[in-house]
Amino acid sequence: MSIKYIFITGGVSSSLGKGLTASSIALLLEKKGYKVAMLKLDPYLNVDPGTMNPFQHGEVYVTDDGAETDLDLGHYHRYTHSPLSKASNATSGQIYDTVIRRERKGDYLGKTVQVIPHVTNEIKQRIADCANQESNLDVVFVEIGGTVGDIESLPFLEAIRQFRHENLENSVFIHLTYTPYLKAAGEIKTKPTQHSVQMLRSIGIVPNIIVCRSEHPLSKEIKDKISLFCDVPDRAVFEAIDVEDSIYEVPMMMKEQGIDEFICKSLNLENRKTHLNEWKKIVSSIKKPKGSIRVGIVGKYVQHQDAYKSVFESLEHGALAHGYKIEIERFEADQVSEAVLKKIQGCDGYLVPGGFGERGWEGKIAIAKFCRENKIPFFGICLGMQVLVVEFARHVLGFKDASSTEFAPETKNPVISLLSEQRTVQNIGGTMRLGAYPCKLQEKSKAYSAYKKLKISERHRHRYEVNNHYTDDLEKAGLLFSGRYTKQKLCEIAEVKNHPWMVGVQFHPEFKSRPTEPHPLFKDFAKAMIQQSKKKKGDR
Ligand code: GLN
Repeated sequence: MSIKYIFITGGVSSSLGKGLTASSIALLLEKKGYKVAMLKLDPYLNVDPGTMNPFQHGEVYVTDDGAETDLDLGHYHRYTHSPLSKASNATSGQIYDTVIRRERKGDYLGKTVQVIPHVTNEIKQRIADCANQESNLDVVFVEIGGTVGDIESLPFLEAIRQFRHENLENSVFIHLTYTPYLKAAGEIKTKPTQHSVQMLRSIGIVPNIIVCRSEHPLSKEIKDKISLFCDVPDRAVFEAIDVEDSIYEVPMMMKEQGIDEFICKSLNLENRKTHLNEWKKIVSSIKKPKGSIRVGIVGKYVQHQDAYKSVFESLEHGALAHGYKIEIERFEADQVSEAVLKKIQGCDGYLVPGGFGERGWEGKIAIAKFCRENKIPFFGICLGMQVLVVEFARHVLGFKDASSTEFAPETKNPVISLLSEQRTVQNIGGTMRLGAYPCKLQEKSKAYSAYKKLKISERHRHRYEVNNHYTDDLEKAGLLFSGRYTKQKLCEIAEVKNHPWMVGVQFHPEFKSRPTEPHPLFKDFAKAMIQQSKKKKGDR
């Protein structure tokens, strides 16, 4: 069977949930037994999102092979088992970089180098690379970032137009639009959708399927109108109304409307049974939780919806593993202090996620101290682990000036210092310690009780590490370095021994959790929070 391609574009507005729509449809096909792969094409000029401010772009999702990628890859991971690697995300910056390097090498043999065909060919090559990364792929999903009508997405749209022309029988175009409800008129409006499709058609793309994001269900009349004006069969108009409780309901909502069947027919794929039981169970336990726990996230970008996307999702997975619901409370790290902590009604546990830069550093230390002293569950991720270690060095070992050289280059006690391999690094893009590294766990540790195995592999994105000069002293004082990258003697996990659950990890476990396969550390963190919440109730 030849590989099938599903292209997803977005119109009218950004943030409609193309990534979620793509992931949900991909899940439906995966659950029919098709092997899917996902690719995100991003029109911006940054080579990758690694250098962008989280306020601009949200989370940077890291793959095993060390690519710093768009956060939609996190959705792809949580919904599907698509391979995710450098071949799963390409930006205009990467495409132009490749084309210009080839021009400098003389690869174009004196030709004028142009958007068509040189840039578009490179984009098509990226689609082929994604499709060829494994030998047994059935369906490749290609999501185009941005909104149709943006100047910078034109080369991508032209490339996928050509791609379809060359793979007519094997491609389907899905256009995701927005159908707003005008309160004054009391009706749903289709005009923005019509315009968006007109714009697509003017560049030669005729969508096969239209998915409308909407706050209200679409009547038959509205669907007929969209079908007529956008020139798709009425069965090809689907609605994506706001889900009630969880984004994990979206696949079932799409399935109920028969989008999988329509796609299979269009691509000449056998419409096999979709095995969604596991997913249905997840959604029903989200809807009927046994109880709830409250976690406090202490970070710099807590007000941004997407800056800690995978962390938020993983927390939900961890709680769900015990049938619980998670409530997330957000704390601006630079407004947290011991005085503030004494005043607030406490959460059942706190998490300090990854981060860069000094702002909020002392607030994060304050929360770690509070959790350690009051035996409240604490989970530190990457910078959060460095916080845990510095706090311990300051207040248990008594090294008052202990710090990370990232924030205090002159400190006499650099408990966290630059990785030796980082000392010669000049460029900031793509140069951190990135991607998967093996880690060896120590038996009789919280880490081992979570993973239940001695060898694990997790993904990294950092420049600083625990300074081995201090590890003996720290261990003697009650910290346990329960996970190490033995090849370079790097400390990857730190836990406080005399404490219900205070664990810090130098890596990013949030990139590997799924609702159906919750990450063991998030699962155990949730368990500790459940115990803490019961204890609190008992104390009252
Ligand atoms: N800023 C820290 C470092 O570079 C932590 C990085 C992170 O949290 N991702 O080591």
